[in-house]
Amino acid sequence: MLGILSTVYQPIYSVYLNGELIGYSKNKSGLQKRINEYMDSGDGENIEFVDIEQLPQYKLCLLKRDAKANDDEIFNTIKEKGINYYTYYAIVENGEEKLYIANLEDAQNVLNQLKEKNSQNKDNISIEQKYETKLNNFVTSDEAVASLYKENKVKKSTKVASSVTARGSEKISTSTKISDAAPNLGISLIQPVSGKLTSRYGERSSIRSSAHTGLDIANSKGTPIKAAASGTVVFSGTKGSYGKMVIISHGNGVQTYYGHCSSLEVSVGQTVSQGQVIAKMGSTGNSTGSHLHLEIRVNGSSVNPQKYLY
Ligand SMILES: [Zn+2]
Repeated sequence: MLGILSTVYQPIYSVYLNGELIGYSKNKSGLQKRINEYMDSGDGENIEFVDIEQLPQYKLCLLKRDAKANDDEIFNTIKEKGINYYTYYAIVENGEEKLYIANLEDAQNVLNQLKEKNSQNKDNISIEQKYETKLNNFVTSDEAVASLYKENKVKKSTKVASSVTARGSEKISTSTKISDAAPNLGISLIQPVSGKLTSRYGERSSIRSSAHTGLDIANSKGTPIKAAASGTVVFSGTKGSYGKMVIISHGNGVQTYYGHCSSLEVSVGQTVSQGQVIAKMGSTGNSTGSHLHLEIRVNGSSVNPQKYLY
């Protein structure tokens, strides 16, 4: 009789979501890996990551041998609860979002073409990366140039007060590339936290698939993180490997990213002043200890924070 028990029963994981049983899995680590990968990149056009509020819980149990694992169904149940975050780029003129482009290369192409054509507004146009739960209508770079181009009637204008975007940033790179450029931001930044610099911009390491796009500053969990400059919160939530993150737009195509936070103190659309506490330091996402991942993006491309701070 005892022999029959072990042939009738098998160890298997019961999987719960919000306390509710959603299925059985024999491969806990494989299933969780699949969920993590999905959260990191989604599975559709322009999807940057997927926010899943509740992660499943696993309990090891014994079930009859004929009980079936249903990893696919579990995955689909979790997928349905996820919120897709799309990324794309806004072309901004004098602080106003004019139109939207699907990828950074095309957006940068618009800026370059307007400069080449010496469009009258070329110095007041910038790019901002958007993280939204809805897709927008996109235009091609040619359509964007046609709609934004303004003939430059004045030969040499002396009044280009807000021309901060172009100066010194001749080099064009995509968001994942590392650049040496240090364009004039047009604003002064303050250090969001003090601490030990544990990884510099451009560094490579085993826990990252590509070069480091920010600067890591370590301090204890819960250390208040201050806004480097005044601006508007454009993202406050969980973003895959960044963990809990805040993104602030400062105008003129300048954005700052604060990753791996333990808690978020601001919400999307909120105006923040320089030095205001926006989050607390932590180790969420792809992180091995409490630190702030600080990123500065100018027209969608990351720049070296140490050219401005620390
Ligand atoms: Zn980092």
